[in-house]
Amino acid sequence: MDVALLGGSFNPPHLGHLLAAHVVRALEPVDQVWFVPAAHHPFGKPLIDVAHRLAMCELMCRDAAGWLLASDVEASLGGNGYTVDTLRELHRRWPDRRWTLVIGSDIVPELAKWREPGEIRRLARIVVLNRAGHPAPGAIGPPLAKVSSTEVRAALAAGRGGEGLVHREVLAYIERHGLYRTG
Ligand code: ATP
Repeated sequence: MDVALLGGSFNPPHLGHLLAAHVVRALEPVDQVWFVPAAHHPFGKPLIDVAHRLAMCELMCRDAAGWLLASDVEASLGGNGYTVDTLRELHRRWPDRRWTLVIGSDIVPELAKWREPGEIRRLARIVVLNRAGHPAPGAIGPPLAKVSSTEVRAALAAGRGGEGLVHREVLAYIERHGLYRTG
């Protein structure tokens, strides 16, 4: 089985993430796409609890017929959330699967700074998605939605809804739990 991993903060998950998953599924020979929320932010930015971010990712997966999943691998590992450690853990848990690491084109300049980039490339195939405003050579698909979690958080903190940017089930979850209401 081939699994594509879309890692990130998902603080909160938005339509850009959902579109990204669909584009990967449509263009790449993968059986599943997994959202993988990080336990902590790689550069120490504050994030709401990973249990909330995982629950919101799960809500976005409900519409898909089994191919889209949210994974708790980074939440359960805790730790520093180095991608190389996550990939090692996935290989340990599922030695027969093949892994594709999906990154938005905004992340490409950071990739060389990640821990053990050579090992990452050995453990997973890397696919770069075309994020609007961040052209990168080799990125696949059309420029994707101009939406970010930063924009969603700002809208919610300002008392505006995140309508049009966030799946309605995720928005209902945010409201139910009173998340992101302060800046
Ligand atoms: P923030 O605004 O808090 O920095 P973000 O919107 O960039 O967050 P992340 O959860 O950090 O979202 O992103 C996870 C992954 O999804 C990254 O690889 C990122 O490049 C990709 N991604 C996020 N939004 C989009 C989008 N609109 N189009 C394409 N890729 C995206």
